[in-house]
Amino acid sequence: LADEDRESRPRLMLMGLRRSGKSSIQRVVFHKMSPTETLFLESTSKINKDNIHSFIDFQVWDFPGQMDFFDPTFDTEAIFGEVGALVFVIDSQDDYMEALARLHSTVVAAYRVNPNITFEVFIHKVDGLSEDYKIDTQRDIQQTTTDELADAGLENVQLAFYLTSIYDHSIFEAFSKVIQKLIPQLPTLENLLNILCANSGIEKAFLFDVISKIYIATDSSPVDSQSYEICSDMIDVIIDISSIYGRAAIGAKSQAYLEDQDGQEEWSRPDIDSRSDDREASNGDNHSQAVATGSRAGSLSNLPTQTGGNHEAFSVIKMGNGTVLYLREVNKYLALICLLRAETFEKQGLIDYNVHCFKEAMDQVFELKRAERNRREMEANQ
Ligand code: GDP
Repeated sequence: LADEDRESRPRLMLMGLRRSGKSSIQRVVFHKMSPTETLFLESTSKINKDNIHSFIDFQVWDFPGQMDFFDPTFDTEAIFGEVGALVFVIDSQDDYMEALARLHSTVVAAYRVNPNITFEVFIHKVDGLSEDYKIDTQRDIQQTTTDELADAGLENVQLAFYLTSIYDHSIFEAFSKVIQKLIPQLPTLENLLNILCANSGIEKAFLFDVISKIYIATDSSPVDSQSYEICSDMIDVIIDISSIYGRAAIGAKSQAYLEDQDGQEEWSRPDIDSRSDDREASNGDNHSQAVATGSRAGSLSNLPTQTGGNHEAFSVIKMGNGTVLYLREVNKYLALICLLRAETFEKQGLIDYNVHCFKEAMDQVFELKRAERNRREMEANQ
């Protein structure tokens, strides 16, 4: 990837003790592995930089043996200097005292180098815990860490806590919140989505990072997990269709991607075959329900994907319950997915037009950022 491209993407680092679930998270979120397959993953034993063709720049770090931040040969500057968010994973099904000690030393070291880092704690593998126990665990972890940081004189450091599991959508939702904090244009994006929804009769709109299915922005109406789940399932459907039928079904899109330097279709995943059918079955109740209703009630009338005339993927799924899912590619990494009523969708021309305006505004938002960075660089060089 070009340096400029890397730089403009939010950078995220995943840390935690061995076996806490880092590689599993990485595989499930960025490589579409089914959660049950992670049982056979070898534990990460070294620093692992994963080149992900996504809006998000993502790295996984492990602590092999004793990694000492206070060792002068250990270059904390290089590690934490450019990171946007540090995600620390704690295995909630295990005794977490050692993990908390690690978390503490990590936060202390990272904050010293880069006070702008956001610290995010994933209390992970909560699928094995009862509701009460989850809440108690979160309270205990939160209390202990904040007390210890206060004792170290770092009461201003903010940590955010999330309950996560790879067996449901919680890991994706947690990442969505983490990423959103790193996007300086977020208020503008939300505003644009609000305008789009208000002028088109759209009930809910998400801007998705296609590869990870993390949403980077949504309009300000409340997010209910079912809408999120159905939209993220739509991405799976579209990606599966496009990797099966490729250029024939979505000719216009492939044509656009053929021009990519690496000649790779950005939206199809290399390990798509690794996704087995038991994923739905093992993916937690909510998820399988959403998938089941989707395919039973939905007529999926417009699949395979329709193509717009201007090199962009575009798809509409009409469901039996009168809801329409509308997807449109926004740029290399991002897609807009809207939920609306079938009656509203009768005015598709208006919606297409408004979405087109939204895309143009998005381009301008990111263009402005690029221009500003160039200006800053010029100033710095003078
Ligand atoms: P790493 O060493 O931090 O990279 O940890 P791994 O990703 O290798 O995970 C260790 C074990 O935890 C694997 O057997 C995973 O299947 C399991 N695991 C990871 N995430 C979850 C989760 O959300 N729930 C449960 N129950 N197990 C998980």
